[in-house]
Amino acid sequence: MTTSSPSHDVLIIGAGLSGLSVARFLRDKRPELKLLLLEKNNHPGGAIRSHSEEGYLSEWGAHGFLDNCLESRVITHLAGLSQEIEKAPLARFVRYICLHGNLNLIPQTPPKIIKAPLVPSSAKLRVLADLWKKPLPGEPTVADWVEHRFGKALLPFADAVFTGTYAGDINKLTIDSVMAGVRDLEREHGSVIRGLWKKQRAKRKEGEEKKGLPAMTSFNAGMGRLPQGLADTFEANREIMYRTPVKEIQQTEEGWQVLTSQNNFTSHHLVLALPINTSLSLLTGINEISSPPTGEVTEAHIATVALGFTEEAKIPFGFGYLAPESEQRFALGALFSSHMFPGRAPEGHQLMEALVGGRRHPERLQMDDDTLIQETYRDLAQLMDLPSPPSFARVLRPTSGIPQLEAGYPALLSWRRKLHADWNTLHVCGFGWKGIGINDMTKEAWQAAKRILSNRLQEEENELKGVYF
Ligand SMILES: Cc1cc2nc3c(=O)[nH]c(=O)nc-3n(C[C@H](O)[C@H](O)[C@H](O)COP(=O)(O)OP(=O)(O)OC[C@H]3O[C@@H](n4cnc5c(N)ncnc54)[C@H](O)[C@@H]3O)c2cc1C
Repeated sequence: MTTSSPSHDVLIIGAGLSGLSVARFLRDKRPELKLLLLEKNNHPGGAIRSHSEEGYLSEWGAHGFLDNCLESRVITHLAGLSQEIEKAPLARFVRYICLHGNLNLIPQTPPKIIKAPLVPSSAKLRVLADLWKKPLPGEPTVADWVEHRFGKALLPFADAVFTGTYAGDINKLTIDSVMAGVRDLEREHGSVIRGLWKKQRAKRKEGEEKKGLPAMTSFNAGMGRLPQGLADTFEANREIMYRTPVKEIQQTEEGWQVLTSQNNFTSHHLVLALPINTSLSLLTGINEISSPPTGEVTEAHIATVALGFTEEAKIPFGFGYLAPESEQRFALGALFSSHMFPGRAPEGHQLMEALVGGRRHPERLQMDDDTLIQETYRDLAQLMDLPSPPSFARVLRPTSGIPQLEAGYPALLSWRRKLHADWNTLHVCGFGWKGIGINDMTKEAWQAAKRILSNRLQEEENELKGVYF
C-alpha cells in the first residue's frame, strides 16, 4: 500500500554529486526551502566512491577534478572540505603518452605539443592549414574533425585525450557533442587557431591575467569524501531518503508526483539528477512530455586495476600515461596515484591504477579478476621496470558507465532545452547532460539551482573547454 507525503518545494531524484550539489546550492541561498533527495542506494555518491584496503586508497570512479571551475570550488567549500583538499598541479605532475611502445613525456597544451619533437616538422606545418580549412558540415567525428583541421599526425594525441576523459572512441565521439565551444569558435572565426588567438587578445585587452595550468584535486580520504561531505549537511530520513528508487513520475494539478514502491511524493519543482539514460527512461513515461529524439545513449564501462609495488618499481614521476588505440595495448593507461597523492600507499610502497575496457574493448571486462591483473601487469611491465609480483592487486568494476557523446547528442540537448522552456518547474541535469566530468556536473547543478531560484530559463552557452591530457 502506498501513502502520500506532504508536498515539498523541491524534490531531487538522485543523491550523486549532481543532486547533492543542486540541494547544497539551494540550501545556501534559500535555507527555508523544503527539500527532499530520493536515492536508490543506501549511500550517497553514485559514480564517486573510494576504496581503502591494506593501506592503499583507490577509486571506483572519478580520481579527481581540475581546480579551474568556480562551481566545484564552491561545492567543496559548502561540503566543509576545504581543509581536506589534496592537489597535484599539472605543471609539476607531468603526463606521458605511449607511442611506439615507449612512454613519452607530453607537453601539457596543444601549442606545446606542436612545438615538441614528438611531431615531425611537416606535420607541424600542416597544423597551420587550420587557418584556411572550411568547417566540416554535419556532425563529424572527433577523428575526422582533427584530421581535417590539423592533420593525421595529431590523431594519437586526440585519441589519448578522449581515452583519458571518456574511455571513448574518437571515431564515434562527435566534435559538436564533446567540444561544442571549439566548434562555435571554428564557425565564428573560420579557424580554431585564429579564434583562440582573438579570444586571448581580447582577454589581454580587458586586463585579464594569464592563467597557469590547473591542478588535479582530490581529498585526503579520496573522492568519496565529496558526496559524503555534502550528504552530511542534510538530515537522513527527513532531507535524504536512501533505499528509495523512483519508479515513475506524473504531472498532476498539485505539481510533480513521484512514485516509489513505498511512498508518493509531490513537489512544486522536480530535479532529475540522474545518469542520462535513467532520466530519459523516467521522462519517457510522462504523458505530457514529448518523446526524446533518442531513448538511450551508449555507455562505456571500465575496470580499475589497482596495483601496489615496493619502491623498487621504476614508475616515472608524474600523473600517469595514456595509450592511443594505435598502440594496441591492453590497458587504456594508468594513473601514478601515489605520486600525485602520496598518502595512497603504505610507507615504502607505490600505487598505480590502470584502466581497462572502455568503448573499444568491452570484451576485456569479461575476464576474471586474476586474468585482468595478469594482463595489466604484463602490459605495464613492458613500459616500466616493475617487480613481480605486485605487493597488492585489486580489480574494481564500477557499475556506472560513462555516457558517450556521439552522433545525435546535440539533438538530445535541444530537446532538453525545449523541455526546460516548456516546464519551468522541471530541471534535468546529471551524468551525461552537457558533459561527463565533475566540473560539468557542478556547473549544470548550479544552472538548475539558478533556474529554481529565479524561476527563469537560463541562457545556455557552449563552454570553450580546455584540453588537458
Ligand atoms: C569509471 C568512472 C571514472 C570517472 N572518472 C572521472 C574523473 O577522473 N574525473 C571527473 O571529473 N569525472 C569522472 N567521472 C565522472 C563523474 O564520476 C561523474 O561526472 C559524476 O559522478 C556524476 O554524478 P551524478 O550525480 O550526475 O551521477 P551519478 O554519480 O550517477 O549519481 C546518480 C545517483 O542517482 C541514483 N539513482 C539512479 N536511479 C535512481 C532512481 N530511479 N531513483 C533514485 N535514485 C536513483 C544513483 O544511485 C546515484 O546515486 C568518472 C565516472 C566513471 C563512471
